[in-house]
Amino acid sequence: MRIILLGPPGAGKGTQAEKLVKKYKIPHISTGDIFRAALQEGTELGLRAKEYMDQGELVPDDLVVDIVKERLEQEDAQNGYLLDGFPRTLAQAEALDESLRASGTPLTGVINISVDPQELLERLTGRRVCRGCGATYHIKFNPPTVRSVCDKCGGELYQREDDTVETVKQRLEVYRQQTAPLIEYYGRKGILFTVDGSQEIDEVFRAITTILDRQQ
Ligand SMILES: [Zn+2]
Repeated sequence: MRIILLGPPGAGKGTQAEKLVKKYKIPHISTGDIFRAALQEGTELGLRAKEYMDQGELVPDDLVVDIVKERLEQEDAQNGYLLDGFPRTLAQAEALDESLRASGTPLTGVINISVDPQELLERLTGRRVCRGCGATYHIKFNPPTVRSVCDKCGGELYQREDDTVETVKQRLEVYRQQTAPLIEYYGRKGILFTVDGSQEIDEVFRAITTILDRQQ
């Protein structure tokens, strides 16, 4: 089961990823984690990536792809994996494809969790975080008993800078622009499956697993 999971901020991608890796017993591979691990272990590729990052530059596509490939060759990924946050560009997607073709292990499917932008805006801008203990709430879906006060510790709730309307709109737009070419690319290859992410968590999960089980 080799899966790529796509979905905008607020679509519940993290929740679905967690459920999928448990069901299929595959590792959840996110680029952030791989980079951290590569740097920590001081691998040759990790050190090369660090040079770019130290200079505040983007790590070039081919180096990112090499680091991901190295991760996919590890023991725990031999029966599959769930890729999260990779590929980010068309060049990365093509390089990944080429590598998977060479090893005879093509992707099972690319799952695109789709949610109406207006609903995403509501989900994300309604988030509140406790200054005291870090607990999270949602003014509509998970409100505290007393407005702006944390149920757990009595701390003050606030809206993170990341969750204001302007910032959220910008994050969603950046995501849309970044992902559009990937969606088109995998769509053309016939392995893109779009799932309605506005449903309940379990419904979304059932829709995804139905698709994946059929693909295997
Ligand atoms: Zn609190």
